[in-house]
Amino acid sequence: MKYSILSDIFKKLDSTTKRLEMIEILIELFNKTPIENFRHVIYLTSGKIGADYKNLDFGFADKMVIKVIAKAVGKPVKQISDLYKQIGDLGEVAELLIKETGQQHLGAFFQTTTSKQKNSLTIEDVWNNLHKIVNTEGKGSASKKTNILLGMFSEASPNEAKYITRTVLTQLRLGVKDLTIIEALSRKFGDGKEARVKIERAYNVTSDIGEVGEVLARNGMEGIEKITIQVGRPIRMMAAQRMASIEEILEKLGGECALEFKYDGERVQGHILNDDVSLYSRNLNEISSMYPDVEKALKNSLKSKDIIVEGEITAWDPVDEKLKPFQILMSRKRKYGINEAVQSIPVKVFLFDILYIDGESLLEKSYPQRRKILESNILDNDIIVLSSRKIVSSPVLFEEYFENAIENGCEGIMAKDTRDETQYQAGNRGFLWIKHKFDYSESFADSYDFIVVGGFYGKGRRKGTLGTLLMAAFNAEEERFETVCKLGSGFTDEDLAKVTEDLMKLKVEQRPKDVISKMTPDVWIQPTKVYEIQGADLSTSPIHTCALDEIKKDTGIAIRFPRFIRFRDDKNPDQATTTSEIINAYKNQRTKNR
Ligand code: AMP
Repeated sequence: MKYSILSDIFKKLDSTTKRLEMIEILIELFNKTPIENFRHVIYLTSGKIGADYKNLDFGFADKMVIKVIAKAVGKPVKQISDLYKQIGDLGEVAELLIKETGQQHLGAFFQTTTSKQKNSLTIEDVWNNLHKIVNTEGKGSASKKTNILLGMFSEASPNEAKYITRTVLTQLRLGVKDLTIIEALSRKFGDGKEARVKIERAYNVTSDIGEVGEVLARNGMEGIEKITIQVGRPIRMMAAQRMASIEEILEKLGGECALEFKYDGERVQGHILNDDVSLYSRNLNEISSMYPDVEKALKNSLKSKDIIVEGEITAWDPVDEKLKPFQILMSRKRKYGINEAVQSIPVKVFLFDILYIDGESLLEKSYPQRRKILESNILDNDIIVLSSRKIVSSPVLFEEYFENAIENGCEGIMAKDTRDETQYQAGNRGFLWIKHKFDYSESFADSYDFIVVGGFYGKGRRKGTLGTLLMAAFNAEEERFETVCKLGSGFTDEDLAKVTEDLMKLKVEQRPKDVISKMTPDVWIQPTKVYEIQGADLSTSPIHTCALDEIKKDTGIAIRFPRFIRFRDDKNPDQATTTSEIINAYKNQRTKNR
């Protein structure tokens, strides 16, 4: 399959923000794709060359790509940088210049290495070259990567060069999310809604949209229904809803529920097969290298050698035998000196779920059944323990347990539904788990996870840094980011330095397509980073776009007096607080205040 077919589709996708049109365009793409290319085409449309959890990194920065474009079109680097400043998208710069100048001189440059003609790139060529780029490491790797990209430019049409450039910069920005791809797949291979539920299940179990697409192309819906858990492949994690009132939680869960401590650490999904252990974070990154002690402990403290469990890794003070705050655990997040960190920051893992054991998926079992299996599989040890738990059916006992959790250094409690229909809902945020945190009981201070979409430069002492950030909630139905507040307080100087360093790498020249904003910040930021913030309350706002028109025409909902609490590097943007949660919180607040 020619890459030009895909890049022409990219161009069409680029020209629309409407989800339905995107779905139609994707179906057109699938109709043109041979079975053997399905996987490639799906990954490439998401700007990737593998499942998200594989952490594949092209390692290209703007400057490197500018140099490659300069070489490809035989123009000075300065000219490319100036054009980039003007246009704001290196993909478009590459397209424009290759259109203008062609790559004639590159023909000479590559005479000995390629006899291929312009427009001859296939999907396999691009795929293989992108993999080579990712796999090129160590000394001299920058120039090797550069040459591979130059090689692709020498064969690319202007439009192809545009999308190759954006891909290696991880800025494809077509606005195509995995759920949009799933919708298109379910229309192509099934009858819509029913097929979508099955495809979504397969996606949640594999966390791999390319795999799902390939299975559909090869074996249709029958193949999809056979997809099951594999140890070593993370399962998209179940999430919790939030509720502020204890009475309401009890009512929602049928008058009785299990309460567990809500430990304030990092969620972990542990996959064990004999001697192999992989640990995955909430956003499905492999975190095994940061927790060698947890790896070892898991291997030795579970009865089965073929098992997937979930829990919360928490910093632990072994002298006083108590939990330590989340911030302490975050100092484990380093590449070097892990062995020292293991000594200086001991941890415990509080297991609260089990998803698979000895060849059998437990996802369909109820929560009480899973808990029982988990309890009977833990061997006595120092690091791996069960989450604390109690069944309650009265508000008084609920409150008592909640206070006990806070006194023990937890964030609050997780209330879990104990009825029969309580399967593990992979990738879903439902009411089977309801979180109730300390701040929810204080009407003036609720906490949210928002995505940074823009920044404003600071003044005075904060000059040169991003002093205020434009934050957004995630609209899960429309798959877009809607602004909800400007965040400027609560940061320490250290936080601000990290904010600027992290965010400037994600700066983009134009408003990303999936960001909806009435405001124009000094810089736009690719929606990637999630920060936890606390706000006084929610109010309607004419300048923010979260829940626009939902409460009042031309008006959104905003958080008043937001304060930064902490970085949430363990969360992806689609795991942030959603627009519908904000609408619910706003309505609840109104009822409470009446
Ligand atoms: P939040 O991050 O505020 O949406 O809260 C959900 C998170 O609480 C989960 O992803 C876990 O990381 C964490 N958590 C802590 N203790 C528990 C528990 N006992 N059961 C489930 N999740 C827990």
